[in-house]
Amino acid sequence: MSRQVANEKELIGTGLKQRTEEALADDFLRKAVAFTTDKLKTGKKMATDDFGQWEEWRERGRLIRKHVVDNLDYYLTQFSDNVAKAGGHVYFCRTGDEAVQTFMGIAEKRCAKLVAKGKSMVSEEIHLNRHLEERGIEAIETDLGEYILQLAKETPSHLIIPAIHKNKQQIADLFSAEAGESFLPETKVLARYAKQRLRDYFLQADIGMTGCNFGVAESGAITLVSNEGNGRMVSTIPKCHVVIMGMERLVPTYDDLEVVLNLLARSATGQKLTTYTSMITGPRREGELDGPEELHVIILDNGRSAQLGDPVFQEVLHCIRCAACLNVCPVYRHVGGHTYGSVYSGPIGAVLTPLLQQDMKEAGQLAYASSLCGACYEACPVKIPLHDMLVQLRARKVRLGLTPLAERVAFKTFQTTFGSVKLYRMATKSAYYLMKPFVSKGVIKKAPGPAAGWTQSRHLPMKPKQSFRERWRELQQELKRESAGRAGALTNRNGEEQRYD
Ligand code: SF4
Repeated sequence: MSRQVANEKELIGTGLKQRTEEALADDFLRKAVAFTTDKLKTGKKMATDDFGQWEEWRERGRLIRKHVVDNLDYYLTQFSDNVAKAGGHVYFCRTGDEAVQTFMGIAEKRCAKLVAKGKSMVSEEIHLNRHLEERGIEAIETDLGEYILQLAKETPSHLIIPAIHKNKQQIADLFSAEAGESFLPETKVLARYAKQRLRDYFLQADIGMTGCNFGVAESGAITLVSNEGNGRMVSTIPKCHVVIMGMERLVPTYDDLEVVLNLLARSATGQKLTTYTSMITGPRREGELDGPEELHVIILDNGRSAQLGDPVFQEVLHCIRCAACLNVCPVYRHVGGHTYGSVYSGPIGAVLTPLLQQDMKEAGQLAYASSLCGACYEACPVKIPLHDMLVQLRARKVRLGLTPLAERVAFKTFQTTFGSVKLYRMATKSAYYLMKPFVSKGVIKKAPGPAAGWTQSRHLPMKPKQSFRERWRELQQELKRESAGRAGALTNRNGEEQRYD
């Protein structure tokens, strides 16, 4: 199955059910996702237990992110001024298309033919690779996971482990097809091949493109974290470095950066710090040995500013993209990221996608891909209440009249029935008789009509004939009769009290 998202907006809602069914039927995918997310969860637990003051730092992280987003205009100005002072160029882009056009303008000026990319979810968000391809510019992903997916023509299925659903054999097949020789499915062999292959691209690329984990407002530094070092290569070897970042990815100072980097590494991979943390302040200066001649920073809005000032959803901009919410989500763990049909998956994707796309009809369907258990909130290092937001998105969908007619009728009936004692009693009484024809050995294995989905993966127990209240009343009467019987034993046959003391 090709997982390439051609028209994300159209596919998200309508294809959700089918993609879910396909993922649930894919045993390998489910095992692979559960295995890796379990590992990440355990790593996070160890790293946070080891830290000792996790809850305190979580709160500090929340306050830092809140402060930045509450004062985003101020910090964006400070950050862009400092990037410019350091010799970089800053572009503010309202939409994804504007960001693509800006990138193309830079590429044209440099007559670029090859772009080496570091891992960047924002570039996925604006479908940069597709646009580059259309202009005849080759784009190469240099993050190992992204490189694998580029060969497989797939999109990432996890925020930090994009190829979470692939095993070694599948990767060996992809590399063998590309190289025209056969590789053993061994980590060392595969990593060696990718390393050699990518090294050429680093050296030949006209432009290096990266995302930005955090921009430091007080200095204009771009912070990149990676475990493979490719971010460092991409941002220093090519003569031109282009950064594309979401407008909310800022911290005020280096002290704040220390907090969020700790939260990010421990939540994402269970590391104290990622292997490489690079801070890039401006292009290469005179006398410096490495670094690009030009640094361009594209700051993207693309629906983010619409959340500013929103009492419910502004906090979604606090996200530091650690993916901890994906790793604990029972829905994500069962179906993986491609099922969501959007660039951002898991609980954060289910909230972020409809908000960024301002599309409740299609993307809004993602709000239902959740059990609302709240595990995402517990895992989030900056305490974003994703489960509350998912409920609010569902409420928004209802208010906009976007739910199906059958659902609206069902909930209206539910409301009327549960609002009246008489109707409620009638309904619970008749439920027994309505269920009876479908029962076998005390359970319903295959429910009819809209209830069919519920019994697809579990049995529905038969409702007892007697309600709890009826049973309770009966028990009370039995108890009364019993105590009356015992009282009778203490009186003689003339009804006089018999004393035994
Ligand atoms: S919502 Fe929280 S847990 Fe999920 S990716 Fe963002 S910061 Fe991490």
